[in-house]
Amino acid sequence: MREIKYDVVVIGAGNGGLVAALKLAKAGKKTLLVERNIVPGGFATSFSRGRFEFEAALHELCDFGNAKNHGNLYTLFTELGVIDKIKFVDVKEAFKVISLEDNTSYIMPFGIDNFINKMEEYVPNSKESMTIFFELGKEIKDALKYLNDSKGHPDTKVLMKNYPNFMRVASYNIDKVLDAIKMPLKAQRILTTYWSYLGAPSGKLSFVHYCIMTYLYISLHAQIPVNRSNEMSLVLAEEFTKSGGDIFYGREAKKILVENNHVIGVLLDNNLKIKCNYVICNANPNMVYAKMIDKDKIPTNALKLANSRELSGRGFAIYLGLNKSKEELGLDNYSYFIYNTLDSNKEYENMKSLDNYSQVVVCLNNALPDCSPKGTTILYFTSLYFSDCFSKEVTESNYFELKDDLALGFIETFEKATNTTIKPYIEEIEVATPLTFAHYTDAPDGAIYGYFTADLDNMLPRLMRMYDENYLPGLKFCGGSSVRSSGYNSSYLSGDLAAKLTLADMKEGK
Ligand SMILES: Cc1cc2nc3c(=O)[nH]c(=O)nc-3n(C[C@H](O)[C@H](O)[C@H](O)COP(=O)(O)OP(=O)(O)OC[C@H]3O[C@@H](n4cnc5c(N)ncnc54)[C@H](O)[C@@H]3O)c2cc1C
Repeated sequence: MREIKYDVVVIGAGNGGLVAALKLAKAGKKTLLVERNIVPGGFATSFSRGRFEFEAALHELCDFGNAKNHGNLYTLFTELGVIDKIKFVDVKEAFKVISLEDNTSYIMPFGIDNFINKMEEYVPNSKESMTIFFELGKEIKDALKYLNDSKGHPDTKVLMKNYPNFMRVASYNIDKVLDAIKMPLKAQRILTTYWSYLGAPSGKLSFVHYCIMTYLYISLHAQIPVNRSNEMSLVLAEEFTKSGGDIFYGREAKKILVENNHVIGVLLDNNLKIKCNYVICNANPNMVYAKMIDKDKIPTNALKLANSRELSGRGFAIYLGLNKSKEELGLDNYSYFIYNTLDSNKEYENMKSLDNYSQVVVCLNNALPDCSPKGTTILYFTSLYFSDCFSKEVTESNYFELKDDLALGFIETFEKATNTTIKPYIEEIEVATPLTFAHYTDAPDGAIYGYFTADLDNMLPRLMRMYDENYLPGLKFCGGSSVRSSGYNSSYLSGDLAAKLTLADMKEGK
């Protein structure tokens, strides 16, 4: 068997893996990045059909900002030396949300004052509670920075003194806190529109997690790369090789080798053995324990933790190239959240069934007018199933019929909700089901948002416990199924975190 040696092997070139690999290479570590696809990015990619280049995943970046007002992601891209190599534009408004239940819709702007004022127009007497919400967002942001800087050893007295409101709300879900600050129910419903981005409803999702995401979106606005996610992924990969890293594309890591409860290497699908003491893995832990580590080498607690978690939403997406302009179609908004009901707890239950067409639709031309040829429009739809309803229903023989039926249901729901006609103008259509996503990234059951992040297993306790969960020394996880949960900014930042922890372990010889 052929053998080569690296300091660290990063398995998977999704957002988390790319950042982890680049950070390690920049720190002078001999790093190998192994990716089973022939391009980097995982979900963060694009593809072409006819005269259209479709964004595969991203609706909008969170925690990015701009040169004057940095989010954490902007700072990270600056540190990694890639910020000037990617062009970004602002998305024009926060969202349009449509309720099918009562045929109402609300368009919300970016900017905290604009958002609060618009809400007051829609829901008189909401101003005071909305102001408290955003003040809490600011305090949560500062408290999370303190927790991050304290590296798992925060001083409770400092927390109580400097971040008392953060401490008050830290263990509650969204509904509990919004009720406590006396936000009118209708304002709660509109404010929680983004819930599906975190894949858990307001009665289960941590207030801290939702509040910080919304605060960052509304205060920093949302951005997208001009040349789709593919550009971000390619630039990160290129910077990695320029920094001395090696990438093997079209290669699958088959095994993580373990001896005496420490990683000792990785075996690839071409039987090449890579000797290394450290692995950062961008794949889902359940897949790793099921397929990549010998059963008797998996620490019991690591397995227990993975098995105790539920998968989050399984993805269903439709990509349309239309041969009419957005003006001709009457599509003025960038993102349309179309729900049966604005009550996220009910909607979450609805989304456990195939008989449900709630969706988030992006009209890319409303942020990037030139993203498709003149007189055409790109629309992409994303929906989630919060159960294994798709894999239960699908068979080898009904796959194409099932996916066509579901796609038709989503498109007709969109037409009805927005009072537009798009079907006759479809020039290109591509449909991705949970099976497509599972096939492309090895995400279990096509779960595009990693693990369900809710109740007691939410972002905060995950981050607080990460130093104690070093069950298999030498192995760290990054990406949407790791501590920060899913999303572009979370997965990129998780790569940075995994690299920092690995560098610390290397220094201490752990
Ligand atoms: C349709 C859709 C819309 C979305 N919209 C948004 C949005 O608007 N905003 C947002 O923030 N997030 C969004 N997301 C979520 C976001 O795309 C993900 O959270 C993020 O891309 C996950 O990154 P990751 O680091 O977990 O890597 P992944 O994308 O999961 O990639 C993992 C990589 O590891 C590789 N791999 C796995 N196993 C192996 C192995 N054994 N050997 C070699 N390689 C391996 C895979 O091939 C893959 O390339 C969306 C996702 C989808 C699908």
